[in-house]
Amino acid sequence: MARHLRATALLIAAALLVGACRPAVAMSDLAERYVKLVLAVGVHDADYVDAYYGPPEWRVEAGEQRRSLADLDADAAALLEALAGREPPASADELERLRHAYLTTQVESLRAKVKMLRGERLTFDAESAALYDAVAPVHTEQELGALVRELNQRLPGNGSVLGRYQAFRNRFEIPKDRLDAVFAAAIEGCRARTLEHVALPATESFTLEYVTNKSWSGYNWYQGNYRSLIQINTDLPIYIDRAIDLACHEGYPGHHVYNVLLEQHLVRERGWQEFSVYPLFSPQSLIAEGTANYGIEVAFPDAERRAFERDVLFPAAGLDASQVDEFYEVMELAEKLSYAGNEAARRYRNGEIDAAAAAKWHETYALMSPDRAAQRVRFIDQYGAYVINYNLGKDLVARYIERHAGSDSARRWSEFAKLISSPRLPSGLED
Ligand SMILES: [Zn+2]
Repeated sequence: MARHLRATALLIAAALLVGACRPAVAMSDLAERYVKLVLAVGVHDADYVDAYYGPPEWRVEAGEQRRSLADLDADAAALLEALAGREPPASADELERLRHAYLTTQVESLRAKVKMLRGERLTFDAESAALYDAVAPVHTEQELGALVRELNQRLPGNGSVLGRYQAFRNRFEIPKDRLDAVFAAAIEGCRARTLEHVALPATESFTLEYVTNKSWSGYNWYQGNYRSLIQINTDLPIYIDRAIDLACHEGYPGHHVYNVLLEQHLVRERGWQEFSVYPLFSPQSLIAEGTANYGIEVAFPDAERRAFERDVLFPAAGLDASQVDEFYEVMELAEKLSYAGNEAARRYRNGEIDAAAAAKWHETYALMSPDRAAQRVRFIDQYGAYVINYNLGKDLVARYIERHAGSDSARRWSEFAKLISSPRLPSGLED
């Protein structure tokens, strides 16, 4: 009996010791709480959960419970506290540290989204900082005006700069009956280049659909199991440059590949459940959009892109391939105008201008047709400060990759693949 008691006491002492060494909660439990929180917020905003391929019953449960925003805020605060007590030491593996910082910032972003859903109004910059972990630089009307004048000098013909730009663009529209052939060729080109540098699971694939009546031009819906649904909006004319843009951005090496690699390396290999859900209004989107946009240049460095356009895409669209250089010289100038959209969104969200003025701004400084400008304002209504993820995201990713890889193509690919397989935050891109 005495011996038995002593043995029990020893066992208890041992258990206490182990308990003292072992962290109070496992990261896997915190990851599960995060996934359930994201799903619960998604019940209040249909756009919030962009992708989810974890246990289906968790989503059903979130819908049935329909927990109040006040409860979700309290849960998020408790989760942040638990995460703070679980910080890995500086000596821990880099991916473990990135994981912890990433999860913490994603939860902070979720809390900001909950506050907004409860009616709190944030300025444009406060919203982008809180949701996306980044603030876009300001571009003045003078700067944007100078870019428009530069383009004005480069465009042929007479009349307003907007009219001439639209007339120029119209020469390069993909006829509707050739869209599918052009996109198939563009996706094949993007996929082949990606597969030369990035190992993907053999079963990865996607379905392509054409849709209408959307505020966006293309969308990748990741479905898990290495599959995506890519949708292309045909409401407005689609010009030839959009073929590679959309194929790389939505597919290879953009959103489809990004999601496939997260599922393969983080969810399946490491069991990091938090990556089975993707909250759209979160820092993850800056990385997703930034890498999807920069991926176009990784897959098609300038000269290669023009060659592919000349040899494959212009002929597939029935366009005159001798005009490739002229087209891309103008498009390079026009790309600089993308920051004009941020300025319109900033003023519009801050209540300084109304929807009509925001549309007009897009016509004046981004040289969009009235239809496209109106579509863009609908996008801002639906997604708010999300617009910064495309251009600021691309610039941050470009600087990060170029700092780590220089201009060497193979090294750019390997840094790019590493970035889209790891949980790095927008603010971490400056490291
Ligand atoms: Zn995108």
